[in-house]
Amino acid sequence: MKDKCRPATRALHSGYDVRQNLGARAVPIYATTSYVFQDTQEGADLYALKKPGFLYSRLGSPTVSVLEERLAAYHGAAGGLCLASGSAANSLLLMSLTDPGQNIVASPQLYGGSSTLLQHTFRRLGLGVRFVDLNDEEALRAAIDDQTSAVFGEGVANPSGYILDLEKVAAVAHEYGLPLIIDNSAAPPPLLNPFDYGADLLTYSLTKLIGGHGTHLGGAILEKGDFDWGRTARHSKYLNAPDPTYGGLNFWEHFGRPNYQRGQSQVVCHKIRLDLLRNFGPTLSPFGAHEFLLGLETLPLRAQKQAESAQIVARHLAGHPKVAWVNYSGLPDSPIFELAQKYFHGLPGAVFGVGLKGGFEAAVRFIDHLELWSHLANILDARSLVIHPASTTHQQLTPEERAKAGAPDDLIRLSVGLEAVEDLLEALDSALAKV
Ligand SMILES: *Cc1c(COP(=O)(O)O)cnc(C)c1O
Repeated sequence: MKDKCRPATRALHSGYDVRQNLGARAVPIYATTSYVFQDTQEGADLYALKKPGFLYSRLGSPTVSVLEERLAAYHGAAGGLCLASGSAANSLLLMSLTDPGQNIVASPQLYGGSSTLLQHTFRRLGLGVRFVDLNDEEALRAAIDDQTSAVFGEGVANPSGYILDLEKVAAVAHEYGLPLIIDNSAAPPPLLNPFDYGADLLTYSLTKLIGGHGTHLGGAILEKGDFDWGRTARHSKYLNAPDPTYGGLNFWEHFGRPNYQRGQSQVVCHKIRLDLLRNFGPTLSPFGAHEFLLGLETLPLRAQKQAESAQIVARHLAGHPKVAWVNYSGLPDSPIFELAQKYFHGLPGAVFGVGLKGGFEAAVRFIDHLELWSHLANILDARSLVIHPASTTHQQLTPEERAKAGAPDDLIRLSVGLEAVEDLLEALDSALAKV
């Protein structure tokens, strides 16, 4: 019943049964590392995957499992896997789908950590990357070859705010038998559900809007469940081959093929849990999962309110005499305004960039005089946040390199929180008066 309800209801109820938890209304934190086997047969069956259940909390635990099921239900997905951070979600997912010698076709407009992962860490492991504007269909087709394993981008990019034309990108990826993977950290539903537009797998930094209160790091992989991993040879070495660590089990034949036509395949999540999560170990703790369950309960309200306030702040700044530009795609003069209308009904999240007429020096003075907004390296806390990338996260680069990375010297990144928007505007005006 509860999984047939609307997403806001699922965010509160899915994946949890009070009767199996002594009637506890809130989801309990299962603070235990391990689970007692009833007898040796049960232990053997659990290890052989003949019986579902918990063994050891690196692989999964009841509190984390509620979060996984609830996130999946909230997105209309078949399954989910939670991890210790958004970075772990991106690395494990992309690594699981790509063999050495293969390549990932990725948008250049990515979170800085993801660019570094692809360009440096993965290259060392022999996993290639080709950066190309995914909205440029010709360039996208030219970048894909028979060694490409996946297409990867962000729903709304952090920090550039770039929006992918998901329907078109998904259509091209699927034509080549490739999955479309979207890091949707900056715009979870109700802002955007990329599964509605053809995405096959999502990743999240739960640290951001889903947690929503800046208290814990976490990540998630969500699997829509209808992708045919047996269609081409690209993914055959890993997903569609005997796995020597599970007695020769073929994950695709066992978990995927019988279920994907009903949209119920969780083969990628199962495989990563039982291989990369088991062996690398970036587990989300039950305490973290509890924080994210609380965040998820109010996500629909917070996301809507923060996105509405962001629009008010963006409009206000666009009309201010000391502001040179505002990079917010909900404004009619944005080059991607149409995409913001199509995918976000005009409310493309709560993070955007602004530049002041006085450039680098003005940005520094503005931030030093800005009250109420916290100057730090995070986005989408309930509190409003600000950062000047050129003097902090991107200070080691030359001005030219910064511009290429989407962080020009005058860029100030704002993340709009839940404060009374009038207070936010007054704080901005007062700082602007001092630059
Ligand atoms: C923050 C962020 C990440 C990394 O997440 P962590 O939880 O900090 O590891 C990945 N992708 C995007 C888009 C992000 O904003």
